[in-house]
Amino acid sequence: MQFQPKASHFINGEYVEDTSGAPIDVIYPATGEVIARLHSATPDIVNQALTSAKNAQTEWAAMSGTERGRVLRRAADIMRDRNRELSILETHDTGKPLQETLVADATSGADALEYFGGLAASLTGEHIPLGGGDFVYTIREALGVCVGIGAWNYPTQIACWKGAPALACGNTMIFKPSETTPLSALQVAEILIEAGAPKGVYNVIQGYGDVGASLVTDPRVAKVSLTGSVPTGRKVYAAAADGMKHVTMELGGKSPMIVFDDADIENAVSGAILGNFYSSGQVCSNGTRVFVQKGIKEAFLNRLSERLESAVIGDPLDEEVNFGPMVSENQLNIALSYVEKGRAEGARLVFGGERIAGDGFYMQPTVFADVADDMTIACEEIFGPVMSVLDFETEEEVMARANDTEFGLAAGVFTNDLTRAHRIVAGFEAGTCYINTYNLAPVEAPFGGSKMSGVGRENSKLAINHFSEMKTVYVSMNDVEAPY
Ligand code: NDP
Repeated sequence: MQFQPKASHFINGEYVEDTSGAPIDVIYPATGEVIARLHSATPDIVNQALTSAKNAQTEWAAMSGTERGRVLRRAADIMRDRNRELSILETHDTGKPLQETLVADATSGADALEYFGGLAASLTGEHIPLGGGDFVYTIREALGVCVGIGAWNYPTQIACWKGAPALACGNTMIFKPSETTPLSALQVAEILIEAGAPKGVYNVIQGYGDVGASLVTDPRVAKVSLTGSVPTGRKVYAAAADGMKHVTMELGGKSPMIVFDDADIENAVSGAILGNFYSSGQVCSNGTRVFVQKGIKEAFLNRLSERLESAVIGDPLDEEVNFGPMVSENQLNIALSYVEKGRAEGARLVFGGERIAGDGFYMQPTVFADVADDMTIACEEIFGPVMSVLDFETEEEVMARANDTEFGLAAGVFTNDLTRAHRIVAGFEAGTCYINTYNLAPVEAPFGGSKMSGVGRENSKLAINHFSEMKTVYVSMNDVEAPY
């Protein structure tokens, strides 16, 4: 068990084990080999984590923003120093190629720690002058104990995107990774301690959905931030509502990418590749409905197929490899079942479509053309490397079709017509839009979804509003006037 951590959970600054919890086998997706065995949190472990986070919160919130920020920025430096080691772990946890994890996982986690570490010292309320000398001031306060629940596609990034703004504001966190990828968040917890975070400020417990659910309903928890699917989002949102808890929901999508005749075709193909096949298609914001204007359809498909021929599929630890396995056999089977549905419903398979033989969970990057709006592959989130190409003729038509979905996470347009580009993004019903590129998510920019794709925003200064609240203080400088 090459990647066996010291224990399953990290609570109050220490590794903690309770082997009576249900076993969680960590499987390396490239080989199917078990690389670690962890245990799901028992009610006692859940309680220990909540107690630890609750006890640590007052002290952490009482530290100055500068002090809290320093801890986060030190953690960012440690993560960057250990990027290769953390990336190798992330590759084993998720199967994503090292070529990707070296630049997209611990590095983006470190960006979040650095960014929110930098903001921590400047988080303030405001002074509001009123008539007659009275005034109001506001105090920005932490919410308390926050729960982060993660999906399996970007485990390090999600642990940091939630943890960094929460901690910057003076909250403490209990993070529950997906049981499919439980390893990296433990490293984040260790690094924060090494960077000087007081014990209990950032705790990690493992478990299945029931562990997440027991955290969400605990009265000690003030806020829940979930990254996951829409069905899970619905459940978590409803459970949090009972306790009137704050929520951030980063959920799924079926995002449109529109390619007009006048687009730079090479860039459009690059955008479609990034927005469908990076991380073997396991990215929430992927532009999986690629609307291509009829005039360039065949040229687009030909160039796309040529470029896909040069994808290097194989051992994710080989840095030449740029397309790895799916995260699990289950996820592979889900994606393959959608390929079958695409075929059965009459879409034209133009590339891939097959499982790749071997012990790992590999499938070919897959492209369907002549996809109709009502086909299952055009309506449901697949979360695998399956692109649907749909034809269109006019801007008006494509706009309506692009928005005709319950999701609203992301959307993109490729065109060289400047005014059209801005008109299109103004019409998109989506939280994150792209013009002539796709799928970039820098920490400086808000990220999140509209419609069923989510509530709230991660990253940027906006995330601060989702991890803090304002106390209003009215100060009278005058006598109190009462009617009698
Ligand atoms: P799931 O919705 O299945 O799970 C997400 C997390 O929620 C997991 O940790 C899961 O635990 C936990 N969970 C499940 N049920 C409950 C419950 N009732 N109460 C509390 N927690 C629960 O998503 P996946 O892990 O399969 O991830 C894929 C999904 O995530 C896709 O829909 C994708 O679009 C979305 N996603 C969204 C992103 C965004 O930023 N908008 C980014 C990345 C992914 P367990 O796994 O143990 O069941």
